[in-house]
Amino acid sequence: MKKEETKRKTSEEQFRIPNSEFRISNAERRTPSAFGLYFHVPFCAAKCPYCDFYSGRDLSLIPAYVGAVKDELATLRRVSPFVTEDVRERETASVYFGGGTPGLLPPETLDELLRCVRAHFNVDPNAEITVEVNPTLKNREAFFASAAAAGVNRISVGMQSAVEAELKALGRRGSPSDVAETVRAVRAAGIGDISLDIMLGIPGQTPETLRTSLDHALSLLPTHLSIYILKLEEGTPLYARRNRLDLPDEDAAADLYLFACRYLAEKGMRHYEISNFCFGGRVGRHNLNYWRCGEYLGIGPAAHSYVDGKRFFFPRDLDAFLAGEKAVFDAPGGDSEEVFMLALRTDTGVDLPAFTSRFGLTPGRGFYETAAAFEKNGLLVNGGGTLRLTDKGFLVSNSIIAALLAAL
Ligand code: SF4
Repeated sequence: MKKEETKRKTSEEQFRIPNSEFRISNAERRTPSAFGLYFHVPFCAAKCPYCDFYSGRDLSLIPAYVGAVKDELATLRRVSPFVTEDVRERETASVYFGGGTPGLLPPETLDELLRCVRAHFNVDPNAEITVEVNPTLKNREAFFASAAAAGVNRISVGMQSAVEAELKALGRRGSPSDVAETVRAVRAAGIGDISLDIMLGIPGQTPETLRTSLDHALSLLPTHLSIYILKLEEGTPLYARRNRLDLPDEDAAADLYLFACRYLAEKGMRHYEISNFCFGGRVGRHNLNYWRCGEYLGIGPAAHSYVDGKRFFFPRDLDAFLAGEKAVFDAPGGDSEEVFMLALRTDTGVDLPAFTSRFGLTPGRGFYETAAAFEKNGLLVNGGGTLRLTDKGFLVSNSIIAALLAAL
């Protein structure tokens, strides 16, 4: 056996997840009407130069933020009139603390917030409760022990890369061993669902360095990986330096994505959404609800919501949120285009007969011809009336979806 094959076999054995770790996800089969709660925690210890998520560095405002969130859970005054009291009766199937850096919350705060959530909402005892953390999290053991005791059952770690030069190019603090230590502490606390974020298209990244990152991630036996392509957001320091960066061009970034898809499929991961992969049935139920056009209520500055057919959001302004400013209307939601577009992001795709009968649509010849052309090019699969994008199709999903919708 060649050296390379030996190496690959060893790593396959090393990374194989035992069958007992797989589980069939009933939650995944739930109706699209699952309800989720999202909390945007708008604090970061330092700002990463590529990131345009809303967050500030004044950690002294954390107590006031927690107080405002609890006030909102109790009164719903900032989200009225978009939300009425009956929202409290919906079965809350997922709770997600994102940011920003929720790991900056004092350990006891998650318990305080989750008690408040349970006091005011109808939370499913088996709800998925996720917290995003950075690998540089301080007091890991205390934080995860407290999170587990509060009912948190899923942790998402912002790993991004296992290559020091790439972390440096991204301006990320922390090291691959910090990621390993974080995962170890999560597991020691008894939290079994672990997701790692990995970035593609980092300056200087190659298939070899990406493989190093994927191998490091897989060696930690996560249940889930999210793989995002770096987007240069206007207004960020990285955007300002864009002409001086050794960024992979569009083709190279596409090759990295397809390499990751192939590699993770070989390792037994299911590619269930454009950017998301899981072992067994361990999908991210909170985010899957977004792609199923399910309802969610977002609390905190920059948090978005979709309830009763209306999309609304809080402005990116912590002071305004603390002062009690109300959420603002965004747009109506849940129309046929949105449902179609979101469903095609997932590997379950669009069940065409169910979709057309739900929205009273009758696709004409043009639609089927457009779909057939994409199928011929290996971008789409039509399996007995269910349309699904291939990995290559995911890469150009926006243009495929636009063309199909135009022909519908
Ligand atoms: S990437 Fe995460 S840690 Fe970095 S600034 Fe953005 S939200 Fe904060």
